Amino acid sequence: MKKLNGIAASSGIAIAKVYELKDPDLNFEKTSIDNPGQEIERLESALEVSRQELEKIKAHTLKELGEEHAEIFSAHLLVLGDPELINPIKDKINDDKVNAEAALDEVATMFIEMFKAMDNEYMRERAADIHDVTKRVMSHLLQVTFPDPALIDEQVIVIARDLTPSDTAQLNREFVKGFATDIGGRTSHSAIMARSLEIPAVVGTKEITGAVKKDDQIIVDGIEGTVIINPTEEEIKVYEAKQAAFAKQQEEWAKLKDEPTFSADGEQVELAANIGTPNDVEGVLNNGGEGVGLYRTEFLYMGNSELPSEDVQFEAYKAVLEKMGDKPVVVRTLDVGGDKEISYLDMPHEMNPFLGFRAIRFCLENEHVFRPQLRALLRASAYGNLKIMFPMIATLEEFRQAKALLLEETDNLKKDGVKVSDNIEVGIMVEIPSTAVIAKQFAKEVDFFSIGTNDLIQYTMAADRMNEQVSYLYQPYHPAILNLVNNVIEAAHAEGKWAGMCGEMAGDSTAIPLLLALGLDEFSMSATSILPARTQILSLNKKELAALKDEFLSLSTAEEVVALAEKTINK
Ligand code: PEP
Ligand code: MG
Repeated sequence: MKKLNGIAASSGIAIAKVYELKDPDLNFEKTSIDNPGQEIERLESALEVSRQELEKIKAHTLKELGEEHAEIFSAHLLVLGDPELINPIKDKINDDKVNAEAALDEVATMFIEMFKAMDNEYMRERAADIHDVTKRVMSHLLQVTFPDPALIDEQVIVIARDLTPSDTAQLNREFVKGFATDIGGRTSHSAIMARSLEIPAVVGTKEITGAVKKDDQIIVDGIEGTVIINPTEEEIKVYEAKQAAFAKQQEEWAKLKDEPTFSADGEQVELAANIGTPNDVEGVLNNGGEGVGLYRTEFLYMGNSELPSEDVQFEAYKAVLEKMGDKPVVVRTLDVGGDKEISYLDMPHEMNPFLGFRAIRFCLENEHVFRPQLRALLRASAYGNLKIMFPMIATLEEFRQAKALLLEETDNLKKDGVKVSDNIEVGIMVEIPSTAVIAKQFAKEVDFFSIGTNDLIQYTMAADRMNEQVSYLYQPYHPAILNLVNNVIEAAHAEGKWAGMCGEMAGDSTAIPLLLALGLDEFSMSATSILPARTQILSLNKKELAALKDEFLSLSTAEEVVALAEKTINK
């Protein structure tokens, strides 16, 4: 038995054997061959296995995530069957007498370069399809495993160095019981997705991938943040008991599912959920969410091989709004960049992607991407209680420019007779210190604020949210963060606006008393944190906490803040 410590990213306990997701080693040697027929046979059989796999993944994706996500695999199947691609590979084997790997690589590279250089965006996107498909065929030629989370069909715990958000989106909850990674933090997007999928997860173990072998059994304890490798029978019993106790606690929490959220002294706040796809809404409602406080629309873009059309987006937004009924739904416009890459958008490779050309900066420069999203949102507004917010706002000009485009598209739609709600609130994420500092000026123009502490902390402390080496500086309870949060809430209230928080801090049990003390109106968190938060708030006295506000704000270190917060909890 070996125990690894990491960061508890998604609560619950999982016990199963490991399944390692890693990029296959596709290195090969170019060789001369004297039997082209045999090489072509090898190629044909690699193509056939790839075809069968893609059919399976497509069927799975269609069932789990719907047609729009499955389309990418239809495109892959078309590439795989395209004689314009396959015949030149066979010709190369025959004419140049080279092995199938070399022929495949040379022809694929030639097509990829050719498509990439084209003016037409649709054609450029085909380069990514050819790349993905030929990687799969190559892995079969080389007989190395090409891991596919969507093909997992037995109970496993997925381990990986890191999981991309799109890997995470493919995990099938029926079979994937948990996951553990070497790197990542609580606010990395794979951790956030694990919480929406309600899969126990531990991230940042540093060495899980090197510490386990195929078929090892492991326990992922997403409550404590530990992983046990090859546990003894006795340890399994201990963890099974812990699993049962957690299930019982969940039953207790569930009693508050349909209740509003009140503090002990009768003050009401709103508990909303963060979602990434329309499928997450079910979890929001099952966990007693009073609204959606953050819909991260970028996952709609990431699950595709090309820009989702205005209609595809409209259907997704409408689905969320309809399922949520009259409950508020705050949709954030595309927040691409940072750790959220979208291959077909052809964004520049940057030294500091978290400080680079991303989110609203990218959208304002790429109206062909931004306007269809705004139109889709406006059209969907007729189906529920929509609020729109812009991410990564650093200046008032950015907000004004984004809002002007929104108003322009509203006019365009109305002129065409399309119904658009007249009550859409338009707000911003506060995740850049400049905006938190001049929140007073912003409050005159926006309808609401939603504080994105995941980024606000990293930008205020100059500590990358993905880097464990500086994670000691990533301090949600640092007095600088509290003062910025307070500034935003006070500015909103002075103008009669509301302030919410959709960063992970909003669901953190140590932060909740602080945020109540500061007067936060809306707390938006992973759906599974809602019921524990509601239970906690029921035991806290908001007026007593508010009396401590100045004391909290005048403390000097995060440690002092935590000590005072814990005193209020244990009181
Ligand atoms: C944030 O920065 O706090 C936030 C909610 O946005 P994201 O985690 O998607 O960057
Ligand atoms: Mg952010």
